[in-house]
Amino acid sequence: MKRVIGYGTLAVLVAAGVLVWTMQRQIGEQVFASVAAQRIVSNNLRFDDGLHLVLCGTGSPLPNPDRAGPCNLVVAGDQAYVVDIGEGGARNLNLMGYFIPSTTALLLTHYHSDHVDGIGPLSLLYWTQGTKTAPLPVHGPQGLNVLVEGFNRAYELDRTYRVEHHTSEIVPETGGGLTAIPFEIGEQPVTVIERGGLRITAFRVDHDPVRPSVGYRFDYKGRSIVISGDAAKSDSIAKAARGADILVHDALQPRLVGHITDALDEAGNEAVATITRDILDYHATPEEAAETAQAAGVRHLILSHLVPPIPNAFFYPAFLGDAEDAFDGKITVGEDGMVFSLDPQGEVIERDRLL
Ligand SMILES: [Zn+2]
Ligand SMILES: [Zn+2]
Repeated sequence: MKRVIGYGTLAVLVAAGVLVWTMQRQIGEQVFASVAAQRIVSNNLRFDDGLHLVLCGTGSPLPNPDRAGPCNLVVAGDQAYVVDIGEGGARNLNLMGYFIPSTTALLLTHYHSDHVDGIGPLSLLYWTQGTKTAPLPVHGPQGLNVLVEGFNRAYELDRTYRVEHHTSEIVPETGGGLTAIPFEIGEQPVTVIERGGLRITAFRVDHDPVRPSVGYRFDYKGRSIVISGDAAKSDSIAKAARGADILVHDALQPRLVGHITDALDEAGNEAVATITRDILDYHATPEEAAETAQAAGVRHLILSHLVPPIPNAFFYPAFLGDAEDAFDGKITVGEDGMVFSLDPQGEVIERDRLL
């Protein structure tokens, strides 16, 4: 039966529309106030005991509006480590309700700009939201001092403005910036942190000409997460990831990148076409990441640092290619906001979403 809105109902709807339109300012302010109150209260993300992985950035230097630059958060008991902090990573962590000052330390895999260009916002929020009296600790392989000195120098003026404006009681002068805690790594893996039942091991990966470039393995209460960092297919990853619950691996699909190169060639953009050709040799393909996961016997492979940018899930099969044939476990194409939780001594990998 066809329903027709009567003149009376129509008049009420029009009147309500006019009321909302004329009251837009007041209604907007009311709604904003209640959302703000809710967000401040919920800015207190808590995790059960266990090992947790939050994907705070799954993109790469090629712009993608839905993916921040490389960023992972690993939570183990009462410790929380951010592994790499690309552009937009700190914003994502904030939007997820993660309290940035609860970060134990930042770990860097290497010093390519896309892995460190979110340091400014991360260290600012760590300091100002937490009234921190000491800078954010940063661990990374040799070369870290150059990076940290540079960042501290670049943000020196910003720190003086904020102390003067808010007083050192709110933003202590001794906080702000970064403290470098470099480690030396050769061919053998090194233990970077061992504390409260958590062991973090760094291992070399092949990302030439970036030397050294490392990945990290987290072991906590019988569960394990491995993050490859940027790497071509490396035996060292298969070795370090042996038996891990989760392997987060970078991935570049050459066939799709090839289409970008063809378009650049066509447009006569030789310089950028050269770059899109050069990057093929220092990132694993999804198929190679799957082979590494298979060789390591990991349970779940998560692809991140996706190259090229993948607009939505429709394109995942084109991105994955034959990866699923090469691995018996589960493969997930990483998305910003995904959370994976591993209960102590358990077998379950629980999934959630924060964005
Ligand atoms: Zn890199
Ligand atoms: Zn990168």
